[in-house]
Amino acid sequence: MGERETPSNEDDREEDIKIEVSQKRGILVCPFCGSADLVLLGVAGLTPPLYLCRKCGRTTYTPLEIFPENDTKESGT
Ligand SMILES: [Zn+2]
Repeated sequence: MGERETPSNEDDREEDIKIEVSQKRGILVCPFCGSADLVLLGVAGLTPPLYLCRKCGRTTYTPLEIFPENDTKESGT
């Protein structure tokens, strides 16, 4: 007696690694009207992705990127 079997689960302690996703991703919005209702028309070869705004109907290669989490802090007014 007194003999304890070590559970193989002890190896699991080493897997206490926190995976933090610090990559913040914003929302792409239309640079013309500010609508987030953008549709990715697709990537064709080397050309950059083309976005179509379903609100104003314009297309753009460079949509604006906004971060709603930062939007809560509004200064002025
Ligand atoms: Zn638009």
